[in-house]
Amino acid sequence: MHGPDFFEQGNLVGVLTAQPLDRMLDYKAPEGGCFRGAFVEVPLGPRKVLGVVWGPGQGDYDYSKVRGVIRVLDVAPMRDEMRMFLRRAADYTLTPMSAMLRLATRAPGLGDPQSMRKIYRLGTGEPERKTDARTRVLSVLRDYGGLAFTLKELAEAADVTSSVVKGLVKQGVVREEDSPRDLPFPKLDPELPSKVLTEDQERAATTMRAALQSGKYGTALLKGVTGSGKTEVYLEAVAEALRLGRQALVLLPEIALTAEFLNRVEVRFGARPAEWHSGATMTERRRIWRMVGQGEAPLVVGARSALFLPFRDLGLIIVDEEHDTSYKQEDGVLYNARDMAVLRAAMCSARVILASATPSLESWANADAGKYDRIELKSRFGVSVLPEMKAIDMRAEQMPSGTWISPSLRRAVEERRAKGEQSLLFINRRGYAPITLCRACGQQIACDHCDARMVEHRFLKRLMCHQCGETKPMPEECPSCGVEGKLAAVGPGIERLAEEAEAAFPDATIVTLSSDMFGSARALKAKIEEIAEGDADIVIGTQLVAKGHNFPNLTLVGVIDADLGLQGSDLRAAERTFQLMRQVAGRAGRAEKPGQALLQTFQPEHPVIRAILSGDEDGFWEAEARERRGAGVPPYGRMAGIILSGPDVAAVFDLGNVLARNDGPLRAIGAQVYGPAPAPIARVRGRHRVRMLIKAEKGAPLQEAISRWIAPLRLKGDLRLSVDIDPQSF
Ligand code: ADP
Ligand code: ZN
Repeated sequence: MHGPDFFEQGNLVGVLTAQPLDRMLDYKAPEGGCFRGAFVEVPLGPRKVLGVVWGPGQGDYDYSKVRGVIRVLDVAPMRDEMRMFLRRAADYTLTPMSAMLRLATRAPGLGDPQSMRKIYRLGTGEPERKTDARTRVLSVLRDYGGLAFTLKELAEAADVTSSVVKGLVKQGVVREEDSPRDLPFPKLDPELPSKVLTEDQERAATTMRAALQSGKYGTALLKGVTGSGKTEVYLEAVAEALRLGRQALVLLPEIALTAEFLNRVEVRFGARPAEWHSGATMTERRRIWRMVGQGEAPLVVGARSALFLPFRDLGLIIVDEEHDTSYKQEDGVLYNARDMAVLRAAMCSARVILASATPSLESWANADAGKYDRIELKSRFGVSVLPEMKAIDMRAEQMPSGTWISPSLRRAVEERRAKGEQSLLFINRRGYAPITLCRACGQQIACDHCDARMVEHRFLKRLMCHQCGETKPMPEECPSCGVEGKLAAVGPGIERLAEEAEAAFPDATIVTLSSDMFGSARALKAKIEEIAEGDADIVIGTQLVAKGHNFPNLTLVGVIDADLGLQGSDLRAAERTFQLMRQVAGRAGRAEKPGQALLQTFQPEHPVIRAILSGDEDGFWEAEARERRGAGVPPYGRMAGIILSGPDVAAVFDLGNVLARNDGPLRAIGAQVYGPAPAPIARVRGRHRVRMLIKAEKGAPLQEAISRWIAPLRLKGDLRLSVDIDPQSF
């Protein structure tokens, strides 16, 4: 006997596929029947596609014409809570279900027995004859440190034919094995001794354990300055989840952070967790996906997309550095992983811990309103104290032109060097100089496809557009007027700052950390470890170094341009600058040595700069909250952005004007529409972009109104529309 969640052979089932159809398709249940949630292969035109049995079919056309499900895949059916999560997430972000399903099935070859049969690993010895192709195969296997590949993956990764791999197998240089297809992840032992927690930490951990034991949904904001031991505390929450036999997920904003974290997990629980990110091989992704579904991966550490893994019993989600803007996915499905974590947890009675030294105003407001619990760690662990923060008033400094390190900052760096301590010079700009200007005609070099400047990257010896990523060689002559030898770099980027530092501190060891200098996350990790071990006197870095790394011997942080983020009209500018500056400053003085942060600024009296210096966080948040409340913007009001784009600027504006004229559904809920106006970046990859902003009151049914508003629209030709609920900038 089967319940209502089972469909007998021949019954009509509605199947959701990842094809952009925007409706379920009817099929006949296969021999043996299938459960609701089953992953199935179905025919679609001439193709076979992956789908999920969502419920009974509609049966609104001739039964005899309905095709049958080809087969049920050998993976656990999608759980109800996951189906509910996808549904709600789709409604919230106004995303078609097909796109949501794609996020939930990002493990290629899911349940495909063919692709699981054999795997290939590094064997012993060297090939008899070293051809380029063979060398490539070996270097792929070495680069991935012992990971296994399927034949197809390995051949593709090395860009060789499969016969090259087979040849190496014959020689024993590559090993062929049966797939460990369901090789589970090692058990983690929550009973291994933890660190002795301080009283403050113990209190926080106890609160979290109790919350987990309740077995109910809830979110807590774990706030504590960098180095206060937040990680130590939330690992105890993970331990409790493991004791309860539930799974845990830790989201980190940056791949480069995971190495240190994985080591800490190993120390605490005796084994490493599953690591989910876009750089993982297909085989590894497939393994994690399957194991998570069987409950055989107790802990997953990953990027935001890990939220869409099919956990069997997810009991805890940690969002570390919850304020980080990289949690917002800005491509494809526009979602904020922090908010989706809360939704996901609500669907499966899990707890969420949002950890940060500088929470987002959203989370701060939710805690303030009592929606989130607030757990605070007041002081840094041990003797370590927060860095002293000071401004360097740039109006009073003697600055030779083309230099950015003030005499005061220079003296401070020299003092640290004399004591054998490290300094960090921070600038939030990649490349050599933000502007390349022709001294003959006064034109700046711009991208051909975007409304953006080309940025000189000397390290790569090219100009690069930071919008579309296009690069071209640095020209000799001005592309506008053709005069030779007149191009000049204007303003500082990290590479130029490094050049200045090398001249200013000729015998110091200087390490520059910028994302474009490292081909791989691995190389970057190695560099970060080098710095932590003390192999640098001066570190020069962009945003990359601001995040959670531990440099015990680093005692000075110099911010080259503290005013940078305050320019422009974005209402979030103050919040961002405050968070970034506090975060960067937190790099100084992590161990026994006290730290100092020096902020170069032209406006030391600016309220944001003053709040950063005084450390009066509550005062800052209250002022920010007042301002946002007054403007009726998030988190005290709701916003959405509509981006319209197309190759023809007039057509894009016409579309915007049509929308603006027909704003009835929005007016019905009291929302206001602004625009159409050129988007903050008005042209990207040759497409003109126009933005409309919608503002509504807190409880207003914004998504519903927007869907009704845009539903009648027919997008002709190459026009595109995307909806961004809770945009990052407004
Ligand atoms: P946060 O996550 O708040 O930045 P961490 O958890 O990384 O802080 O702690 C900062 C440093 O202090 C780490 O090196 C950590 O191992 C250490 N630490 C924190 N709490 C303890 C403790 N109770 N016992 C020993 N070391 C601790
Ligand atoms: Zn461009």
